[in-house]
Order: sequence, then C-alpha cells, then structure tokens
Amino acid sequence: MSNATLPEAFISQMKTYLGENEFEEFSVALAKDPKVSIRINRHKTQIQPENSKQVPWNEDGYFLEERPSFTLDPLFHAGCYYVQEASSMFIQHLLNSIEAPQDGIYLDLAAAPGGKSTLLSSYLGNNGFLVANEVIKSRASILKENIIKWGIGNTLVTQNDPEHFGDLGGFFDLVLVDAPCSGEGMFRKDPNAMSEWSPDHVSLCAARQERIMDQAGAFVKGGGYLIYSTCTFNEKENEEMIRFIVSEYDYEPIRIPLESSWRIVESKVDIDGSSYFGYRFFPHRVEGEGFFITVLKRPESALVHEPKKTKDFKHPYLKPVGKQDAEKLIIQLGLPDYSCFYNLQDSYFWVNKDFQQHFEYLCRFLNIRYFGVELGKINKQQFIPNHEFAVSILPKSGFLTVDLDLKDALDYLRKEDIPVKNLPEGWVLVTYENMPLGWLKNLGNRTNNYYPKDWRIRMR
Ligand code: SAM
Repeated sequence: MSNATLPEAFISQMKTYLGENEFEEFSVALAKDPKVSIRINRHKTQIQPENSKQVPWNEDGYFLEERPSFTLDPLFHAGCYYVQEASSMFIQHLLNSIEAPQDGIYLDLAAAPGGKSTLLSSYLGNNGFLVANEVIKSRASILKENIIKWGIGNTLVTQNDPEHFGDLGGFFDLVLVDAPCSGEGMFRKDPNAMSEWSPDHVSLCAARQERIMDQAGAFVKGGGYLIYSTCTFNEKENEEMIRFIVSEYDYEPIRIPLESSWRIVESKVDIDGSSYFGYRFFPHRVEGEGFFITVLKRPESALVHEPKKTKDFKHPYLKPVGKQDAEKLIIQLGLPDYSCFYNLQDSYFWVNKDFQQHFEYLCRFLNIRYFGVELGKINKQQFIPNHEFAVSILPKSGFLTVDLDLKDALDYLRKEDIPVKNLPEGWVLVTYENMPLGWLKNLGNRTNNYYPKDWRIRMR
C-alpha cells in the first residue's frame, strides 16, 4: 500500500498525532505484510509452534515465520490455537495486571468472531463463567463455532442488542466492549476498512460507541472492571470515549505497567483532577496491528446485582435434567461431580454446577445461541455423542480412541470414509496427535464419519 492510497484527511490526522518523521515510519509499516500470530489453547495442549517467537505481552501468543495453511492443520480444527493478531493479545497482560477475578462472571458484549472471548474463556477456565454476545445473527454463528472449538465449556453465547442487558445492571465482574469502529488499525489487513474510512464515518462510529458505552457502563458490578478497546487510532473513538464514560458513570482510573521495550504508547486523559490511561499500539512501533485499549474500575460502593434464586427453573425450551438422571450421566460419561445438565429438545447440555444459578438467571433475559457443552442424545438407552462434546475439554474416558496420521486426519475432516482396523464396534473418538477431532461409528464392515457437514474442509 502506498501513501497515495491513504485518505488525505487520515494522513493529516496521523501527522498531527505522530509528527512528520514518525508518520513516515508509520506509513512504511502500513506497506508491509501483517505478521501472523496464534494464541495456544493451554487447556488443550502445551505445544510450542516451530519457527516461532513469543508475543512479548502474552505467553500463549506466538509470531509465526510465515503463514501456514491453517485449513490443512488438524490441530487448528481441534481448537488447539486461535489465529489472532498480537496487539489484541495484550488483554492477557491487562487481566494479569489488574488481577481480574478468575472466578468471576464476565461479559464480552461485542464478541464475534471470538478472538477476545476465547482469551477470556481461557483466563476463566473452570472457575469462571463468560457471556459472549454478538448482535448480528450471522456473526453470532461464527462466534458459536469458535467457542465450540475452543471447548472450555464455561461460555454462554447470546445474540442480543446491548440494550437487552438492561436488567443486568451491576451483574458482571468484568465487561469487555471491543467496539465496532472505523478500523484505522486494520488498513493493511483489510483494504475495505480504508475504502469505508472518512471523517464522517469516524463521527458515526463514535456516536455508535457512545450508545453502546452508555449501556455497558451500567452492567459492571461494584469493584468490577470495564474494558474498552478499538482497532482505530483517532482520539474521537478512544480518549473521547473515556471522557464520555466517566461523564456518565462513576469509574476509577487504572494504570497498567508496561515494559518500555514493548513500545506501546500510553495516553493520559485528565478528567476533574484524575488521570485516566489508554494504551495505543502502532504498527511501526509494535509487531501487531493498530489497537487501543483502556480499563476502568467501578467503585466498590456501586451496585452489586446478585442473581435471584429460582426454585423451579422455567424456560420455554430448556429443561433441567433431574438429579437421578444427572447422576447416571456423570457415571456413564465419567464427567466431573460439579456437572449439571439441561435438555434442549432431546439433546443433553453440560453446565458447570457452580454457575447454575447465574446461568439460569441470565437465561431469563437473553437470546441463547449456545451454552456449556452439547453432549449428545440418548436413544434406546444408547448415548449418541455430539461433535461439540468431542472437541470440548470434558473427559471422554468411556470411549475408544483412534489416533490418525496427517493424511487420514485430513480425510476425516473432509468427511471421507476412514478405514479403521482392529477396533471393536461402536463410537470411536478420532484424534490427531492425541487431540480430539470428532467421532466415528465403527459398524464392523465400515465406519460412519460424524464430522459436522457444515464444517468439513474442501481444500486438498
Ligand atoms: N471482539 C471481537 C474479537 O476479538 O474477535 C471483535 C469484535 S468487532 C471489533 C465488533 C463487533 O461489534 C462486531 O462483531 C459487530 O458485529 C458488533 N456490533 C456492531 N454493531 C454493534 C452494536 N450496535 N452493538 C454491539 N455490537 C455491535
């Protein structure tokens, strides 16, 4: 990309921020190919990618020397890593620095395709619970797929407008708003962002962000955190949004420690005698795309909204599984004793019992797209496992396993027939390098491939 293709108004905006000399460095960086980086799912694997270099602010993040074909890597489909640009991975450092509670209830309000949700889900692990929300239907489907592949089982995927969370004021320990923005930091990754850019578009985005933040500011409980981020450089969508949120709600400033070698730029916003902080990532200073992030703390004295206990959970399509059946499932499938279950039609879903009350309360208000882990169905006393269960981190100890080589693993992911020799009949968990990919049913003379049709790979 040459300077000539950058919008004039954008050039002059960036020259104002950076000065002439640094702007030159910035525009040289924009002409380069973006670095490829991945974040490892440590709940699944301890692998360290070959020919890689660690992302400085995230120990699970790695820069790859070149872009491999992710489609032809079975571990990608097994949810062993997420392809994410490095600046966004800073959230890990931020969570560590503020010591965000790992047993908390978090909300990712603008979550699709799920880069930051998978990071939050990993951070919370078995101790916490995440609501990953996306307002746009088609994008919520992609989010759901990525949450299923990530497989931790601590996430409720919803498809709601921010205002539908209106009854959940003071409910969340942490709310992340990774806002829809003018995307200046994505110009080299996404040429569409540049063609859509104009000063008017920036103003439009800022007005939309205000509407979202006006809602989101209320959802954080006393003592909780509000994180706001964009992939754009301008102050209207960044520093001005800090001013806006502080003008609407009581929020305390937080400063994040940085290593000077990271070359992240700290920005200070003075409001009524207090300094608030934001962090800006420029592509000529860091190995990553343009990004801005800030975190604010709700005073301890603010509202804390505990979920109300419901004696009988009544929901139009979710039915809790009774105690006896739940115990049977736990024993039959070797699931942890902190399991509870729900039926959606004839399918069984797993949820961490520690969050049952929160989950049932949230279900009253939100439009659910997925939750916990879909385990499977019971037909004539036989358990028929679902793909979601295969790629989750729940134990699958009662099942036979077959570990395939690369060729057979790719054929399996293409939904082709897999020759399986010397295995008893029944359900078989297919793995590659011991990472679950899905199910096969061995019928003796042949096998049925249960990889989801919509997810199958077409590439050779
Ligand atoms: N957090 C995501 C990730 O890390 O993969 C990226 C989120 S993207 C920057 C912003 C998201 O906000 C988009 O998925 C978009 O569909 C959604 N969005 C658009 N308009 C919105 C609105 N009015 N309220 C909430 N979210 C909105």
